[in-house]
Amino acid sequence: MKQFDVVVVGAGPGGGHCARLLAKLGYQVLLVEQHESFEENIFSSAATPLETLDLFNLPLDVVASFWHKLEIVTTKIHRSWESPKTLGAVFDFAKLRAFLAQDAQIHGAEVWLGHRYLNYTQEGETYLISLKPKKLDPITVKSKILVDATGFSRAVIYPNKKEKPPFLKGTGIEYLIEVEPSLYEKYAHSLLFFLGYKWSPKGYSWIFPMEKNQFKVGSAWLDDPHKIIQDVKPLKYYLQQIITDYLKLDKYKLLDVHGSILEYSIGLNDIYYREPTIIAIGDAVSTVNFLGGEGIRHAMKGSEIAVNYIGEYLETQKTDFLKYEQEMKTYFAPKWNRSEQISRRVYLEYSDQKIDRGVAYLKYLNLSDLIDILFDYKFEKFTKGLKGYLILKINQIIQKLNPFLKSQFKEKPKNYQ
Ligand SMILES: Cc1cc2nc3c(=O)[nH]c(=O)nc-3n(C[C@H](O)[C@H](O)[C@H](O)COP(=O)(O)OP(=O)(O)OC[C@H]3O[C@@H](n4cnc5c(N)ncnc54)[C@H](O)[C@@H]3O)c2cc1C
Repeated sequence: MKQFDVVVVGAGPGGGHCARLLAKLGYQVLLVEQHESFEENIFSSAATPLETLDLFNLPLDVVASFWHKLEIVTTKIHRSWESPKTLGAVFDFAKLRAFLAQDAQIHGAEVWLGHRYLNYTQEGETYLISLKPKKLDPITVKSKILVDATGFSRAVIYPNKKEKPPFLKGTGIEYLIEVEPSLYEKYAHSLLFFLGYKWSPKGYSWIFPMEKNQFKVGSAWLDDPHKIIQDVKPLKYYLQQIITDYLKLDKYKLLDVHGSILEYSIGLNDIYYREPTIIAIGDAVSTVNFLGGEGIRHAMKGSEIAVNYIGEYLETQKTDFLKYEQEMKTYFAPKWNRSEQISRRVYLEYSDQKIDRGVAYLKYLNLSDLIDILFDYKFEKFTKGLKGYLILKINQIIQKLNPFLKSQFKEKPKNYQ
């Protein structure tokens, strides 16, 4: 039976980065993924700010495109912000995960694609882990540490599904389409987000550029009912509407259709570890930020926190995984809880007019404020937009009242009779 220091289940950005870091530290690592190829489940739109590349030491060839423009479209409003400098990237999600797995392999890890994790049993200080290769009988491997990086399915950390906390659930689908070069050029460096009842009730839709002449067009929403809208059409209807009404495309080449779900533990009440040495990372502990469903760099950041505790255990046979949970919550909870509350309000409670108004306020923000809101979750910046809007409104009212005020306070002719 093969033995490892660490078995990481799930080769998404969280699991791949975790395996890569541990392998670089010289540990015996096995990275297991149920899909046979990274081309199989390219579910993520994979937009990210530029800093992600440096922070996690990622090469340029995992990038499909770079963006320097942001556009937000609602039922009635269209706002855009542009920078002369590159602001971010859209990953090729298959290439990103393949790179992380290959890098882990280069540093000595084993990577087993097409192996589904089934269950574990404990034997003294180690785990016996049962894996099912496609079309073959299950096999067992041994490991000192077991890492759950299985994303929303949380396949390892909740052997009993009934223990799962309540989740805020989201569903997203995406088309990869090929378009004419002239249309591609128009949006080649933009991230376009669509909000509001016309384009995406209960969530948001998007157009992101990929490599030459390809766009990702997607729609995602929260599964809970909306407080105002009774009847919503199927998710694909809104996606299709962006293609036909916004991009004005009758014909296009559909290259791929993919999608997935996200399950976020409200208030971050996931189980982060099980004694003695099972630990969960990435979306398995809700590192995805629920405002925009952005989770790649956050899953990787969580892996870096986890690796410190895993390394400590492998060096000393002792560690306190409660400290891992606390460190994760200190890092994520304040902004994540706020993002989750805002996302529920905007996507499930607001009227269409309120969404239009909210985006209208953004006009008074510069690009760096907007980036701070969208990618650093600094929601206090939004009040700057609101302030700008209020000042404009007050000025408009004063201008309207001006002729009236002048006439009221004009000196009355004196009557000497
Ligand atoms: C439609 C959509 C669009 C998104 N767009 C963006 C975006 O633009 N930018 C961004 O940053 N984030 C985006 N996200 C979120 C982001 O993709 C996730 O937060 C991120 O992938 C989480 O990484 P992870 O490694 O924790 O989990 P995952 O990426 O979900 O990886 C989990 C892996 O575990 C494997 N697995 C599951 N069960 C088993 C098992 N039993 N045995 C073996 N393997 C198993 C799965 O096959 C999968 O490969 C999007 C998500 C969706 C659904």
